[in-house]
Amino acid sequence: MNNKNIMEYCYNCDEDRSVIIKEESIKMTIKDIEIDFVGKVAYCEECGEEVYISQIDDENVRKANEKYREKLGIIQISEIEKLLNKYNIGKKPLAKLLGWGEVTIIRYLKGLTPSKEYSEKLKELQDPYKMQEILNQNGNVLQKVARQKVEDRIKEMLHLSHSTKKGQPINSIDVATYFLNKVDIEAGDLISHLKLQKLVYYAQAWMMAFFNKIIIMEDFQAWIHGPVIPEMYYNYKKFGANPIPKANILDENIFNEDEKLILNGIWNVYGKYNAKYLEALTHMEDPWRDARGNCQEDDRCTNVIEKEDIKRYYSSIKDQFTIEDMEELNTYVSSIKIKMS
Ligand SMILES: [Zn+2]
Repeated sequence: MNNKNIMEYCYNCDEDRSVIIKEESIKMTIKDIEIDFVGKVAYCEECGEEVYISQIDDENVRKANEKYREKLGIIQISEIEKLLNKYNIGKKPLAKLLGWGEVTIIRYLKGLTPSKEYSEKLKELQDPYKMQEILNQNGNVLQKVARQKVEDRIKEMLHLSHSTKKGQPINSIDVATYFLNKVDIEAGDLISHLKLQKLVYYAQAWMMAFFNKIIIMEDFQAWIHGPVIPEMYYNYKKFGANPIPKANILDENIFNEDEKLILNGIWNVYGKYNAKYLEALTHMEDPWRDARGNCQEDDRCTNVIEKEDIKRYYSSIKDQFTIEDMEELNTYVSSIKIKMS
């Protein structure tokens, strides 16, 4: 919305006036919960009174609702939309599949806030293994073609990530453990939690760029110090910035040959840098930057760095710099100049 030359009816002046729109911190209460956010407020240029503009009001209500959901950990409308796209499923079929009333999802998309319980159910579905499970239990409520579409999509996703751990998918902790087992403590190698996150991130990124497959299903979020998988964060949090001791025993054969190639390569290419350097590196690259959106440098941010965005970015780097193997990746990474403050 252009801030200049907007004319609106001012109740105080009882005339159309030009208005000034300011960004202000706004407080609202939704269901007894105080919400704080930065929204827009319009003022009459003539008398200085606040002027009601429905478009701005709608935007503020939408923002307040997002904040409210964030506070309570309730799924966002945009996340529900993503779910529908992800599984190529309609609003009614998804509601049916979950055993809910047909219009439930439609209402959620229009802005009705789901209960915590229903929200959790929807969030679980972000994991294709969970979706597969529900489809196995309840898929007969769907029309044949609709069901096939979802199944194709899940198959596509699970093909990306293989599972050899007794039906459990490989997760970020497995990948982290693989790296931790490479640490030579006697030789003075240290690895902090921050650094570990970056190594796992680059493993996932280059796996996608080289093999068009993912290693782990979990998503990275664009935290202040770079990409972070929350599960990993909570797992290693107790060590703070200190080196993490040698890890648990890991059956390295849960990884296939392609994955081992990537993991060993990432260790050689990125493992020699410290956490701060790797942080600066991820801060230069599009996926983290784009996912941060409008967040300021010090803003807490849990926006997901979409797998598609990671894949696209590192694939384009691979093409642009003709990186064909780990040695060439090493040459590329060594050639990046970062000024450390
Ligand atoms: Zn006025």
